[in-house]
Amino acid sequence: VNHVVVVGAGLAGVRTVEALRGRGFNGRITLIGEERHRPYDRPPLSKAVLLGDADTSFVEADLAAMEVDFWPGVSAKSLRSGVVETTEGELGYDGLVIATGAEPITLPGDGPQHVLRTLDDAHELRAMLVPGARVAIIGAGWIGAEVATAARRAGCVVTVVEAGPAPLATAVGAELGARTEPWYDGIDLRLETMVDSVDEGGVRLVGGEFVDAHVVVTGIGVRPAIGWLADADIDLHNGVVTDEYLRTSLPNTVAVGDCAAWWSRRWQTRLRVEHWDTALNAPEIAAASLLGEEVAYDPVPYFWSEQFGHMVQYAGHHPAGERLVYRGDPGGKWSAVWLTGDDALAAVLAVDRPRDLVQGRRIIDAGHRLDVERLVDPEVSLRDC
Ligand code: FAD
Repeated sequence: VNHVVVVGAGLAGVRTVEALRGRGFNGRITLIGEERHRPYDRPPLSKAVLLGDADTSFVEADLAAMEVDFWPGVSAKSLRSGVVETTEGELGYDGLVIATGAEPITLPGDGPQHVLRTLDDAHELRAMLVPGARVAIIGAGWIGAEVATAARRAGCVVTVVEAGPAPLATAVGAELGARTEPWYDGIDLRLETMVDSVDEGGVRLVGGEFVDAHVVVTGIGVRPAIGWLADADIDLHNGVVTDEYLRTSLPNTVAVGDCAAWWSRRWQTRLRVEHWDTALNAPEIAAASLLGEEVAYDPVPYFWSEQFGHMVQYAGHHPAGERLVYRGDPGGKWSAVWLTGDDALAAVLAVDRPRDLVQGRRIIDAGHRLDVERLVDPEVSLRDC
């Protein structure tokens, strides 16, 4: 491989560049990114940046020192064998990294609708979160909960509209999500409520009711940003399909980060994980694969969310679990673990119990079985269960 083109200058893209150089690749690297910014981390956007505690979150990576030809503000439009068609013309390659991430889903209607994906989105939204502003947030998932945290802190009048029966229901199930409902104190939380459209001045609900709002934020999820690959001869299915080495169906082409649906050996299913840890660590494997090595990507997925003063952390893959067991009661610090039929740990969700997360992740990795009787006692360390 002589010239690697990396499409997408988010965390996964820049980490792949670093990993290529780290592995001694000294050929040409071109990094193209739709945004005008150099690569930055997204998790702070809905936390420190939205709360006004930070203005930026740039990744520490010296693109010049790594001799990367960086094209900010340039989009890939389409792909054919050996050539990426960009908004600035054609770009030939013999190694390709697809790292275009994901893009927010929006709702119908012609009223102003904010999303929170980019640094620019975060700055725009932050300026609108002023005391007394009526803010309607659609979706009580991870992003919705974090935006609600910031809006309430800023003194806004906050309504959260959620289609499911509880916050976080889509992510972790209704039973567990219901444990976070009391955190919405002072917020008008409307569950099992569907939005019809976002109109001028607020949100129209199914059934006709209108929720007045100065600011509408839609946080109902993302989809992989793979529109530019629609006509390419590459396997796509809920993202760019890869094997366990992050290799796509095209030669010398890997996919990594939010846009990649990789084969997980550990869970024997295809996973597409929209979380920071994947964008941070999978690039090491993607770079190795591009340089001809065979190292499988087989992590225990991990992520965190900071909402309403709580640190929520998750590791594993709960669809592999059959039983949910709680440790600690909902008013305090607690966690929940998903067990498989033979009492192995499939996933753990920890609320202000970071040790359960760390130990749980190791136990999942090792495949140990647990003693359920000890497990329900939050005083007993997970690693002693
Ligand atoms: P992205 O970060 O989406 O980067 C992809 C880049 O590619 C983008 O800059 C995009 O503009 C560019 N691009 C797209 N299409 C093209 C094209 N055709 N041509 C050129 N460039 C293109 N995860 C956690 O684990 N914990 C958290 O607390 C957390 N908080 C988050 C908060 C927010 C507000 C957001 C938005 C995400 C959060 N995440 C969190 C998720 C995490 O940030 C993502 O998983 C991570 O950013 C994925 O990195 P990526 O490089 O794969 O994709």
